[in-house]
Amino acid sequence: MVVELISVGTEILLGNIVNTNAAYLSEKCAALGLSCYHQSVVGDNEGRLEETVRLALSRSDIVILSGGLGPTKDDLTKEVTAKVFGKALYEDTHTKERIAGYFSQMRSGQVTENNWKQAMVPEGAKVVDNHNGTAPGLIIEENGKTAILLPGPPNEIKPMFERDIVPYLRSLEPEGIYSKMVKICSIGESKAETMVSDLLENQSNPTIAPYAKTGEVHFRVTAKAADEREADGLIEPVIRYLYRIFGDKIYTTSEEVTLEDAVVELLKENELTLTTAESCTAGLLAGRIMNVAGASKVYNEGYITYSNEAKERILSVSHETLERYGAVSPETAAEMAEGAARAAKASASLSVTGIAGPDGGTKEKPVGLVYISCQVRGKMRTEEFRFTGNREKNREYAVVRALTLLWEELMEV
Ligand code: ATP
Ligand code: MG
Repeated sequence: MVVELISVGTEILLGNIVNTNAAYLSEKCAALGLSCYHQSVVGDNEGRLEETVRLALSRSDIVILSGGLGPTKDDLTKEVTAKVFGKALYEDTHTKERIAGYFSQMRSGQVTENNWKQAMVPEGAKVVDNHNGTAPGLIIEENGKTAILLPGPPNEIKPMFERDIVPYLRSLEPEGIYSKMVKICSIGESKAETMVSDLLENQSNPTIAPYAKTGEVHFRVTAKAADEREADGLIEPVIRYLYRIFGDKIYTTSEEVTLEDAVVELLKENELTLTTAESCTAGLLAGRIMNVAGASKVYNEGYITYSNEAKERILSVSHETLERYGAVSPETAAEMAEGAARAAKASASLSVTGIAGPDGGTKEKPVGLVYISCQVRGKMRTEEFRFTGNREKNREYAVVRALTLLWEELMEV
């Protein structure tokens, strides 16, 4: 089933309101297993609205319109759609009573004459009660084509969609979409794709789609199935296959879990505490870790040390190391991690030192050169990275690489 969305309203065209209804409806339809190939926005103009509705019905099975069901003259969605289907409008007694009831409940209680316009419905249409406003939703079906008309205000369209439109759409398309996200760190996107190329080439149900994130690759495994159990039966073998290929590099198969969540969880499991010493990333690493609710159980304190003097004073990096190898060096990174762990009395530590750019690079030590050390229970590992982004990207990558190093080391504990 192909669904198409039309958002009606000049306000949207002018940028006065953001088209959140389209985002909401697209996500819901995708979850229901409906394909959506087109969406459009059209102003409150009879001719252009008619043209848009006709085009949509010519290429899609279901057209969902939002907005333009109000009581005023510029609200045209119902009139135009009824015209396209060749349906006359009649006054629906049930809706008229509901509108009267709605107004009598309101303090002002005043129904203006044009409110009765909302009780007019196209012949043969299914009327969907609006529990949060006056305009009813409408479903018009003919010759295998369906138009679903919904009110514009988000507080009206959403409950109506959940309550009545979802069951209706499910009756048309009983199969739903179910997916799992396999999240992988420490392998680049192209390499990860190559490692599973045979799987990517021969897929139909479930489908496997790779997404490149900063420093991570995610594979979304999506199955079309009648229910969750059937979907699991399709998805699980693929996940097992991905585990065989990527092993420990998979840090979660859950949509919600982030790399920092996974790392904090492992720290807890292993009863470890973490500290960080950052130059270059200026606390971004600590920030990512502290995004995790409950991270303070494993993290007591951390350090931002830019000057050599601070590295010596706070982290006990030796003066000689800084003089001989420089602040951006594997030796300094390791001493930072060691000194931070000692200062914070932590059993694990991460340090970052590097040149984020745009200035400060030299031929030997260019912008993007970053050293990261990871120490877990006395075992130190230091890695060199050469990032090629701008200042912001280089720092972002450094943070993900640091978390990835820690993840890898924790998997060995
Ligand atoms: P009303 O009875 O309020 O006139 P309506 O069904 O005629 O409702 P519109 O007049 O098109 O809908 O829009 C009413 C309000 O609903 C807008 O001012 C806006 O706040 C919100 N709205 C309409 N369309 C959208 C949309 N696509 N995305 C988000 N909000 C919307
Ligand atoms: Mg309106």
